[in-house]
Amino acid sequence: MNTTLALKKTKEQLHDSGFKLTPQREATLLVLLENEKDHLSAEEIYLLTKQKNPDIGLATVYRTLEILTELKIVDKVSFNDGLARYDLRKAGAKHFHHHLLCLECGSIQEIEEDLLIDVEKVVEQQFGFQVSDHRLTFHGICAACQKKKKTTPTQP
Ligand SMILES: [Zn+2]
Ligand SMILES: [Zn+2]
Ligand SMILES: [Zn+2]
Repeated sequence: MNTTLALKKTKEQLHDSGFKLTPQREATLLVLLENEKDHLSAEEIYLLTKQKNPDIGLATVYRTLEILTELKIVDKVSFNDGLARYDLRKAGAKHFHHHLLCLECGSIQEIEEDLLIDVEKVVEQQFGFQVSDHRLTFHGICAACQKKKKTTPTQP
């Protein structure tokens, strides 16, 4: 989905929930959409938003992120550094996407397919637990780092 279309859809979602999209909130949202793959922290979002809208304060950015989280437009995630990061939920996705965290280079890849349908069934049947969402981060070595390891001769 392109950024303009995504922004339009999110605006409708906010409007339906009774939230006004002020220019400052819109600037925050735009930063999230433009950096969809980046898993930015509140601080990083603030700095990028400030470039678009120099008047914005950190508190406004925090408040906007809280609203977007409540409305399930974004999800809060954290990886190895423990910092809260904000991640746009994929349009139409029922459950949160998965992450592949590389322990060598720190890169984070996303898997959009759920892949857990069978696991969810087991959880529901064996534990009588109704699954509404999940967080899954795989820790390991990404394909690029594996390649690098193979081509770099090891020191004796
Ligand atoms: Zn993500
Ligand atoms: Zn699922
Ligand atoms: Zn890597």
